[in-house]
Amino acid sequence: MIYLDNAATTHMLPCVQEAVHPWLSGVKFGNASTLHSVGREARAAVEQARCNVANLINAEPNEIIFTSGGTESDITAILGIVPYLKVLEKRKIIVSAIEHHAILKLQSYLKLLDIEMEIAPVKRSGEIDYDWLFSKVANDDIGLVSIMLANNEIGVVQELALISEFCHNHECLVHTDAVQAVGHMAVDVRNLGVDMLSISGHKFGAMQGIGALYVKSDIRPYIYPMIVGGGQERGLRSGTENVAGIVSLGEAACHMTKHLDQYIAMYHDLRDQFMMAMEKENCNFVSCTNQNGEAEYLPNIVSLTFCGVEAEALLQLMNADGVCISAASACSAGSLEPSHVLKAIGMSDDEARATIRISLGVNNTNAEMEQAAQLLSKNASRIKKMYQ
Ligand code: PLP
Repeated sequence: MIYLDNAATTHMLPCVQEAVHPWLSGVKFGNASTLHSVGREARAAVEQARCNVANLINAEPNEIIFTSGGTESDITAILGIVPYLKVLEKRKIIVSAIEHHAILKLQSYLKLLDIEMEIAPVKRSGEIDYDWLFSKVANDDIGLVSIMLANNEIGVVQELALISEFCHNHECLVHTDAVQAVGHMAVDVRNLGVDMLSISGHKFGAMQGIGALYVKSDIRPYIYPMIVGGGQERGLRSGTENVAGIVSLGEAACHMTKHLDQYIAMYHDLRDQFMMAMEKENCNFVSCTNQNGEAEYLPNIVSLTFCGVEAEALLQLMNADGVCISAASACSAGSLEPSHVLKAIGMSDDEARATIRISLGVNNTNAEMEQAAQLLSKNASRIKKMYQ
């Protein structure tokens, strides 16, 4: 099997499997809030993981809140700041048109709270329309801007440092969904200047169902918890900690701190090799993630449009040949709606429905790139012939 859907989820890293084994096999099992030795062992594991996650993004450990994943981190960041926005008499937030549904679907909920969500347009490259964004932030009562660091479908990377600087000069807070970025590019919260940043473990080798929210220490007192109760995670996320998940996230973070540069170089090589193999196949495709100098893209995500080929059909044929790819983001796959991300960058419905995503992970090899390109070409022409 060739697994090329790492933006949907990744294999658990071997070091992560080893680290979580005692917690999953029942050898270790403590509740991190209890005071005896079994609980203290769990607490120590949680705090070590917190340090590792903080280290990966250049944060302080007390700025890391463990959550159940990227979705919860996004929702905690956006809804948690609403009471503070009310105090500031700010009634609007801006998100981009290519955000994950975890963010976009908050629009109607926010409306009930009397907060308007405005949608920032993006260019054909996927880059935010900075003129639109900055003019809004400068002239309207915007309290929060939430723009993802790297997109899950096309991998475009946004200039968060620029956005944070501008927003802070206009008394506006900044959140970024860095779920696809962390573990695939260098992420430094101080350089980015953001106030909050979402992380998801299963996108870089940890377990599913664990994530974290970075909350800059000076805005921490202004965030309301979404989940209240026992006051865990410094009151921002109650509920007994998922120690196994947290240990997995800490271990994956530690691994990425050591090996990220090596993986980034490897993704660049694999992507170049894949694109070269695709060119050789001479099949009719376009890629909006081709490096045309207009914007920066993650090296591990490639988006390909095979004109006249239904991506869902291509996905099924590739699957039958033992290759896992995605027709859109995993979270919206299964629906026939064309991807909102591809529509936002200006694709027609037909183009969006003809687009697949290849996403690389730490286990992929050069040989797999050649094989995947050949199979893509074979299956795309097979589908085209069926419709001729
Ligand atoms: N944000 C982005 C950009 C994502 O790609 C995803 C998942 O695909 C999420 C948020 C949701 O993360 P999780 O699956 O951990 O809830």
